Amino acid sequence: MNAHPPAHLELHISGQNRPATDGARQEVHSPATGEVVGSVPRATSADLEAAVQAAHTAFQSWSALTSYEREKIIRRATAHVRTQADYLGRLMALEQGKPLAQSRSEIGGACDTLDYYAAEGVRVEGWTNPTEDRNYRSWVQYQPVGVCGLITPWNYPVSLLSWKLGPALAAGCTVVVKPTSVTPLSPLAFCAALTAGGLPAGVANAITGSGSVLGEALIQHRLVAKIAMTGSSDTGRRILGLAAAQLKKVSLELGGQCPAIVCADADLDLAARMIIYKGFRNCGQSCSSINRVYAHTSIHDALVERVRVLAEKMSIGDGLTDPQVDLGPMATADGVQTSLAHVHDAVSLGATLITGGAAPAGEAFARGHYFRPTVLTQCTPEMKVMRDETFGPVVGFQTFDTTESAIALANDTAYGLVAYVFTQDFNATVRLSEALEAGTVCVNHGAVNTNYGPYAGWKDSGYGLELSRRAVFEYLKPKHIKVALR
Ligand code: NAD
Repeated sequence: MNAHPPAHLELHISGQNRPATDGARQEVHSPATGEVVGSVPRATSADLEAAVQAAHTAFQSWSALTSYEREKIIRRATAHVRTQADYLGRLMALEQGKPLAQSRSEIGGACDTLDYYAAEGVRVEGWTNPTEDRNYRSWVQYQPVGVCGLITPWNYPVSLLSWKLGPALAAGCTVVVKPTSVTPLSPLAFCAALTAGGLPAGVANAITGSGSVLGEALIQHRLVAKIAMTGSSDTGRRILGLAAAQLKKVSLELGGQCPAIVCADADLDLAARMIIYKGFRNCGQSCSSINRVYAHTSIHDALVERVRVLAEKMSIGDGLTDPQVDLGPMATADGVQTSLAHVHDAVSLGATLITGGAAPAGEAFARGHYFRPTVLTQCTPEMKVMRDETFGPVVGFQTFDTTESAIALANDTAYGLVAYVFTQDFNATVRLSEALEAGTVCVNHGAVNTNYGPYAGWKDSGYGLELSRRAVFEYLKPKHIKVALR
């Protein structure tokens, strides 16, 4: 029997929670048990139209507020959402599988991001220009782009929404959110909680339905001025093509295949802890997960042994019944299949399986999408685990002898999201971090995403940027005003 009452949520349009116009619904399943744990409406084109119109109407008054006024309203709304962190975190744990402690903390982090941007909105500055004639006056100011469509994935359902929602709201934009069908509950409830906390009706609307139908209709709606999306690179390409037809502003955070280079002089305990943290947290379902490790030949075996010991200590279970467990189930059965396929591919091409490689044994894991933290060694570049996005708890190891060869191996990928370096040498820090083709380089840590640092995927990993004070400008357009005085 399911210990958690099912969550049947509604669309959030113009401050109201309401069903789809035709009453259609889609189920949400627990990754821990496979049971139905909730449902959401399958929005129709009429619902999409209502959501965009609500955002369009609200834009008139929301954009007319000063950024100081918006900051107060956003902060009041997030203060209310923080009181709902347990409820929202439970929804996330229920649908995504992330342990409850981590889900709750994702809600708090998302509120922090909204607050950060509420304060950033106040700091948007234009400029004045010296002119060619003393009777001209010239200045540049920024104005919000309008209604934004925010399309989000399932791995960090609320956090990745906040990276878009924060700058959008602070800039004076209104939004229509379209979360993924895998984890629609927590983002839907998050938007409704913001409205309950005083965000004016119509500022944050949320509708649920399929990406290829509802998502594409949202992108192509003539009143939607900007699209921000996090998801796979293939979906990003499709979205960019659709938006290009209408010359819309677009920002995309896409896939990753992130390398870690561990130098001969690295602090191996630290490197091992970070490989565990960034390789396996959220079951490796993170765009910034460490997927492949290049370890200097002299320390490779010592590092692998440390990682093996820590990986085997990780606790796995249903993160709703045991909130402090390290790993819950993966979000989808597909994720388990891809992880298994990548392990089999690597082993068939000569890799050695050090630990993991399968679901944990036992009745408790029989129905959920569980997969043990997996370490492979003797990997080579042609193996999927070193090349494709596994999006699972699988890390491949390969040795290197020279810094140049480590850089070449790390950069030999279509992706360019995050790269990790472990060294205590300043010269190696600078040389490696400058040579690595990634929008973010982390040296001796795994704290990738911070509100103040831009997150801009290079190569197939993104288009535009999120996070940092610059992200507000993704939701603003500049206007040059030039006046001739009499
Ligand atoms: P996905 O691309 O399948 O879906 C992402 C979102 O796009 C969903 O809401 C989906 O419904 C929607 N969508 C799908 N097809 C669409 C279409 N044709 N038009 C409009 N919308 C469409 O990705 P996912 O499986 O939900 O998420 C996992 C992916 O996200 C991984 O590739 C991962 O690396 C990436 N990701 C990137 C970052 C980052 O910041 N770079 C962060 C987290 C996840």
